[in-house]
Order: sequence, then structure tokens, then C-alpha cells
Amino acid sequence: MEQKTCDYSYLPCQFCVGKNHCRQCGEDIRRALLGLSGVAAVEMDVPARRLTLTLDGADFDDVADAADALGVFL
Ligand SMILES: [Zn+2]
Repeated sequence: MEQKTCDYSYLPCQFCVGKNHCRQCGEDIRRALLGLSGVAAVEMDVPARRLTLTLDGADFDDVADAADALGVFL
């Protein structure tokens, strides 16, 4: 297992009240990333804009690409 912490600069929050620091959008992203194969755990610290990934076989670059596709800029 490998743990990666990264700071993200953006969440896809244009239409919700919280804009770029919204807990609901963070939760949506968290669930989407958690659904990827080889991802054991995902923590989103929305106020700190920090994403912590626990990888169990997944390649970090692949997860980062998936996050990018969801509109999160790492
Ligand atoms: Zn939001």
C-alpha cells in the first residue's frame, strides 16, 4: 500500500454555493476516486484542499488522470 498526499487547486464547483471549497463536491470526487480499481482509501480535506490517496496496486498517475477527468486539478 502506498499513500500519496497532494494539494489540489480546484474542484468542479461552479454551480454550487460553496464554490471551490465545497464539502459536497469533495465527497462526490472522493466516492468517484474510491471506485477506481486499486484505490484502497480516499480522504478529501476540503478546507485544506488536500487529497490523500491510499493506493493498493493503482498507479498514482492513473488516479491523477482520473481526478483530472473529474475536474480536479492536482
Ligand atoms: Zn461544490
